[in-house]
Amino acid sequence: MERKKSMSIHVENLKKSFNGFTAVDNISFAVERGEFITLLGPSGSGKSTVLRCIAGLETPTSGRIEVKGEDVTKVPVQERKVGFVFQHFALFRHMNVLDNISFGLKVRGVKKDKRYEKAKDLLGLVGLEGLETRMPSQLSGGQRQRVALARALAPEPELLLLDEPFGALDTRLRKELRTWLKELHHRIQLTTLLVTHDQDEAFEVSDRILVINHGRVEQNAQPQNVFNEPATEFVAAFVGETNRIKGIVRDGEVAWGHFRFKAVHLPSGTKAVVLFRPNDVYVTTHKERGGWPGRITDIRFLGATEVLEILMDDGGKLTAHIPKGVAGLSGFVNGKQVFVLIAGAHVYAV
Ligand code: ATP
Repeated sequence: MERKKSMSIHVENLKKSFNGFTAVDNISFAVERGEFITLLGPSGSGKSTVLRCIAGLETPTSGRIEVKGEDVTKVPVQERKVGFVFQHFALFRHMNVLDNISFGLKVRGVKKDKRYEKAKDLLGLVGLEGLETRMPSQLSGGQRQRVALARALAPEPELLLLDEPFGALDTRLRKELRTWLKELHHRIQLTTLLVTHDQDEAFEVSDRILVINHGRVEQNAQPQNVFNEPATEFVAAFVGETNRIKGIVRDGEVAWGHFRFKAVHLPSGTKAVVLFRPNDVYVTTHKERGGWPGRITDIRFLGATEVLEILMDDGGKLTAHIPKGVAGLSGFVNGKQVFVLIAGAHVYAV
């Protein structure tokens, strides 16, 4: 793997097995200094295990982890300059906010006035001025996680590891906190690794996303590439809704009824699966606008989107997502004839 001076973390051929079960299966990646990387994947895919190996909380079965060019694979957790925040990493219940934040400094022998000064600065950084003497039980869930973050930052780590830090909070609060986290990262530029199974969270905060499945990296790319050019069928299906059809490649195409999907990268005869997103399906009631004929069999309203189920005249079924404004003007009703175009699909060999 290419070495760059600005690299903060190098993970090489990382493997972790638990009693013969391979949780992390030969993962390699690098993180540049100041980058915000997210490990995104379903439950049980091995994301947390990767993070725990980097933190020093798990010993890899094999492989190597470097932080700032130094091999830390065997360095104990307290000597790795990492700060971490976990979903269930509770604050010390018997300590107030200031003592919680300054705990790591106390352990390192920093004098009281110095560590309180630092803790107050950090409290300002996480937007919780004035809460110095509150006990954890007197804080909201979101405030607690901000205090946990301030506590992780206090010893000035070289690396921040976040494992589903907002996982226990409600959707609205999670959205607020991830926007806040992104802004905070802009300000402090600390190399950060986040583990989440929430694709929206990953898309919003990350410079780069590693999509993990069955202990392997399926894709390592910028968020827009992960969404627009998913490397594998798994990624395409995991990071957004999809219509999925099966077919065989013939002369660089997969045919599905009247539709033709380009598959020039696959030889004729390859069994293939075609995925296309419901919001890449264009539906109109006007024949003259083009498209193949079908009929609406169901309409559901999902806030900003209308979901149309369509049965094509040639027998195929698909789902389309129509933005509310467009749908409102289009006169879509159950049973109505419509004309359908598909803009953009991904074809994978199976
Ligand atoms: P989640 O989002 O649910 O936390 P994850 O992607 O972070 O999932 P891991 O926690 O890394 O997944 O777990 C990966 C696999 O390794 C799982 O099948 C899990 O049961 C297993 N595993 C993790 N830790 C241990 C352990 N200490 N002993 C045995 N098996 C483990």
